[in-house]
Amino acid sequence: MDKYLKILKQYWGFDGFRAMQDQIVQSIGDGKDTLGLLPTGGGKSITFQVPALAKEGVCIVVTPLVALMKDQVANLKKRNIKAVAVYSGLSREEINIAYDNCIFGDYKFLYLSPERLSTELFREKLTYFKVSMIVVDEAHCISQWGYDFRPSYLKIAEFRGELPEVPVLALTATATPKTVDDIQEKLLFEKKNVVQKGFERDNLAYIVRETDDKLNQLVKIVKSVNGCTVVFVRNRKKTKEYTLWLREHAITAHNYHAGLTQESKDLRQKEWMEDKVQVIVCTNAFGMGIDKPDVRLVVHMDAPDSIEAYFQEAGRAGRDGKKAYAVLLWSGADKTRLKKNVTVSFPEKEVIYRIYNALGNFFQIASGHGEDLVFDFDMVSFCGAYHFNLLSVFNSLKILQRAGYLEYEEESNNPSRVHFLVQKTDLYRFQVKNEKFDGFIKLLLRSYTGFFTEYVVINEKVLATRANVSIQLVYQYLNKLNHLKIIHYIPAKKTPLIRYMLPREEERYMKLPDEVYKHRKKDMETRVTAMVDYAEYTHVCRSRFLLNYFGQKDTKDCGCCDVCLDKKKRGVESKDADLYQEKIRKALEQPCSLSELEDQLDESYQKWIGVFNWLADNQAIYQTEDDKWQNRDGDI
Ligand code: ADP
Ligand code: MG
Repeated sequence: MDKYLKILKQYWGFDGFRAMQDQIVQSIGDGKDTLGLLPTGGGKSITFQVPALAKEGVCIVVTPLVALMKDQVANLKKRNIKAVAVYSGLSREEINIAYDNCIFGDYKFLYLSPERLSTELFREKLTYFKVSMIVVDEAHCISQWGYDFRPSYLKIAEFRGELPEVPVLALTATATPKTVDDIQEKLLFEKKNVVQKGFERDNLAYIVRETDDKLNQLVKIVKSVNGCTVVFVRNRKKTKEYTLWLREHAITAHNYHAGLTQESKDLRQKEWMEDKVQVIVCTNAFGMGIDKPDVRLVVHMDAPDSIEAYFQEAGRAGRDGKKAYAVLLWSGADKTRLKKNVTVSFPEKEVIYRIYNALGNFFQIASGHGEDLVFDFDMVSFCGAYHFNLLSVFNSLKILQRAGYLEYEEESNNPSRVHFLVQKTDLYRFQVKNEKFDGFIKLLLRSYTGFFTEYVVINEKVLATRANVSIQLVYQYLNKLNHLKIIHYIPAKKTPLIRYMLPREEERYMKLPDEVYKHRKKDMETRVTAMVDYAEYTHVCRSRFLLNYFGQKDTKDCGCCDVCLDKKKRGVESKDADLYQEKIRKALEQPCSLSELEDQLDESYQKWIGVFNWLADNQAIYQTEDDKWQNRDGDI
């Protein structure tokens, strides 16, 4: 362990590992296939970064989101650790250089999107790699049972099979028992090996508030907690609306979603991190890679469509271990909305086929062609041209992706990059001969390093400010140097992409297998039902409900959620009361009348009637038409 602690101190300056981090590090460090389950923000990255630094060779990290990759690579570079990411949107030369750096350049980390694993280029280069370990981040994506299955993750399974001697570390924050098993199976674990931290969050009070006036409730709650707050909403427009609403009530707030420019995202995030604004109102795009330990309150204005997502998002509160609140605002309409989401998320198969076909026409791909081609995709003009509805196109793309036809990358936000095509001596000669470029080249070389060995992310605005010239002039210089083949300049680009994973199929031969469509739809229904139950069960401790969902046994009432508080108020929170609750529910497995129940319990009526009433008030039990009592259907 000492060598790992030393690395942790040397590169990160941290004095020790957090709970369970050390076990994961030890396990993978010893070369054992490992599944690490730590909550979001629990520090999963360190669990592979530290042991990988202790090993020879390059660590291959598979992550689903380009944004996460870039973030992590930037973080490693800051600590003087050689790391690089390869994803769609990079040029072929960039990719080549990245791989070569892993072979010759002593790079320690190669981040890849899963679809890269099967490309010819990677395969070819891989034979020269010395791989220290394989890391699968967000490993739940490999499981069909997970709430975020990505078919491209199955490529990791194939890939893993080819490097049987290299250990694999799978990491995730949320997985039901079924998913935990599935991940290990899919990744061909030599032996089952899960290192897990319990899902309990003792300092977090889960609250559900049923209300038809969410906006006023929000203000009330934010004011009463009066600490750093995250408000999750389901769409971008609402982030803005609610932010204005909060400001009208003298609460400082920013909104945040994936559609903002990088500058405004950074600025808003920064002001919130530094407590200059109290509240950030955001879509679920916020939060990945953001770590603020003293969030006191997370409010969900709309329930997400799975417990997994809810748990992750709510779990951003109270990382510092101090008291915090996770509040879900709920109204009857939410149930309808969630159920409808299932239908909307799964357009009729015929519609999906038609959209796929139109897409092929849109990109002018002949059938049987198009494999591995990448296209910029403007969804609005596509929908306009073929009269499709945006939402059904969006959801169809997701399903087509799951079926392996194509990959759809929503937000590929690629910054500008520069790589010098000439060596230093040739560059010097060029500078001498072309005096008017001299100043600009010097500026570039002073501002960034690494141009000669890799593509370096640059920011034209920063360069313009430094040189005190207009940004237009910077563009001109870059383009000119690019033209002269002194540099390769790739301007920033922000556009969604579609990549064909298979040759274009004719509509009549298309098939969406049950694993991709029917079963997934059923899964989603089950997940949505669990989310609704969470909100509507007012007789089960919230924390307990969540823990049960994740398969944790031997749970106890948290004592601080709204259900537990209500129980206290009604005087039904004692051990005896729990016992009676269990007895009553057991008895009512068969419907029976009140007097029959009394006979069965065989105890004086006063002892248990309070519990009985509480159960009835919370609809855990109900009266049938023939005046008998029974448990609510499908109850846990
Ligand atoms: P996860 O992937 O589990 O959501 P991250 O790996 O992004 O979490 O880590 C979250 C934050 O915790 C990071 O800012 C990281 O630097 C910090 N962190 C991780 N491990 C430690 C540690 N042992 N000591 C202090 N800070 C840590
Ligand atoms: Mg992570």
